[in-house]
Amino acid sequence: MATLEAPVRPRTIAHQGPFINEAFFDFRHEENARKMRAAIERVRGQLGREYDLIIGGKRVKTADKIRSLNPSRPSEIVGTHQKAGKEHVEPAINAALKAFESWKYTSIEERTGLLFRVGDLLRQRKMDFMAWLVFEVSKNWGEADADISETIDFCEFYAREALRLAKAEAPVQLPGEHDSLKYIPLGVGAVIPPWNFPCAIMAGMTMASIVSGNTVILKPSSDSPTIAAKFVELLEEAGIPEGVVNFCPGSGAAFGDAIVSHPKTRYIAFTGSREVGLHINKSAATQAPGQLWIKRTILEMGGKDAIIVDADSDIDSAVEGVAQAAFGFQGQKCSACSRAIVDERVYDKFLDMLKARVEKITVGDPAENTNMGAVINEGSMKTILGYIEQGKKDGRVITGGERATEAGEGYYIRPTVIADIPPKSKLEQEEIFGPVLAVIKSRGFDQALEIANDTEFGLTGAVYTKSQDKIDRAIRDFHVGNLYINRKCTGAMVGAHPFGGFNMSGTDSKSGGPDYLYLFTQAKSIGEKI
Ligand code: NAD
Repeated sequence: MATLEAPVRPRTIAHQGPFINEAFFDFRHEENARKMRAAIERVRGQLGREYDLIIGGKRVKTADKIRSLNPSRPSEIVGTHQKAGKEHVEPAINAALKAFESWKYTSIEERTGLLFRVGDLLRQRKMDFMAWLVFEVSKNWGEADADISETIDFCEFYAREALRLAKAEAPVQLPGEHDSLKYIPLGVGAVIPPWNFPCAIMAGMTMASIVSGNTVILKPSSDSPTIAAKFVELLEEAGIPEGVVNFCPGSGAAFGDAIVSHPKTRYIAFTGSREVGLHINKSAATQAPGQLWIKRTILEMGGKDAIIVDADSDIDSAVEGVAQAAFGFQGQKCSACSRAIVDERVYDKFLDMLKARVEKITVGDPAENTNMGAVINEGSMKTILGYIEQGKKDGRVITGGERATEAGEGYYIRPTVIADIPPKSKLEQEEIFGPVLAVIKSRGFDQALEIANDTEFGLTGAVYTKSQDKIDRAIRDFHVGNLYINRKCTGAMVGAHPFGGFNMSGTDSKSGGPDYLYLFTQAKSIGEKI
């Protein structure tokens, strides 16, 4: 699946001319595969190292540690990290506040220059960064490439966007006045990413913050702190001043919660589950003693994404799109297809073809570039297997339905397709975040749209049909932040598909789009009499 996820694009010429997405590697070329294997071996030799908290540029050790494990071989430690606790909240906030006093006045050329340099460094070490993702979160080569390419895109795109915002003008000039509009930074931000795009989302929220002049406390997920540590090393190499990014792995419920509720935190950039997002929203809405502002929250949350397969569609491409979107990175994408809603006239044919396609998916250690690696951790594996058991009661298992124990000691689950799942059932409504696809039969396009829209989420969706009328209806009525027609619902590209969802999928913050940096700034309007 990796190569199919990754169309080949021309290579970017760094920050010259218009923005172009970073090209993916084509691993059918032996030279690329050989280089990736070498990168994996280089990184294998660095597993198990210890990383420090970085607060105001100083390395800090703690008694408590976080051990990041390889989901494909849980006995293998990818990195050992210090664990920030409540006692690190004040030092981290103070370091970020102090750095803000100078960083907010740093020229736009200097701030964007930092992002361009980081993008350049990442390009030079791309395969090594990809290899860290293979070990830390069990991404295969193509998925790891997509994650690091997106990280490079965010560096390039947000730097260009910051340059554009710096040239913003007041839409009207009154006679006798010089009227201007300046997008100034907010202050200290808490950046709280998930583990599933552990480089791209972590770096995207961090880079958008700092290019806008803010300073941050970065608390990576405890499942993926090592790739974040590597990224922060890169920031230091590119010359980031002390205190602009304070690196603090720690427990979400203890350290994360405390930085969210701190009165000096100006905004929270979060990506993760609906439950935690709502909790942060509530906490941020409460004014703490000494708090001067309404905290801004940028919350990107879960999904229950559907692909509608119309009777009048190219079934081959629908099957391919559903298989890739459901099982790419083990279904652990907020954009993953977890529901296929299929017209009754093509339902049986679709299921036969999908079963044949899914049974070709290889499961095993992604260091060998299998199609599917392991799911992130033991807790997640148990939750996913619980959903599968529920699915066996509510529907009919077409393929999969169990652990893939022959693949090794890792948290491997077979790609699972469960048909005849009724609308409104648990499997049809709740985000599973694993390699489980529910297939639902519809009586036609109207009912398919109704079922697709009938969850509390609204992140991504896709429609396969040859009918222009149905395409128009989907554009009007399929209520998702990211809609795709006759293609899969994963694989959003920076700039082309600004990303963010409706309803309980988040605040529709559209990362990688032209509105994103507005969320990290506030506009100061100046009317000067001349
Ligand atoms: P999660 O909500 O469990 O954790 C996300 C982050 O929040 C982690 O860093 C965690 O440590 C932290 N956290 C946990 N409790 C906290 C608290 N009380 N206060 C502050 N921080 C806290 O999510 P996850 O398992 O890491 O990621 C998977 C989820 O992310 C899925 O629901 C997925 O759909 C969603 N996601 C959404 C998008 C999007 O763009 N909409 C993208 C990727 C992932």
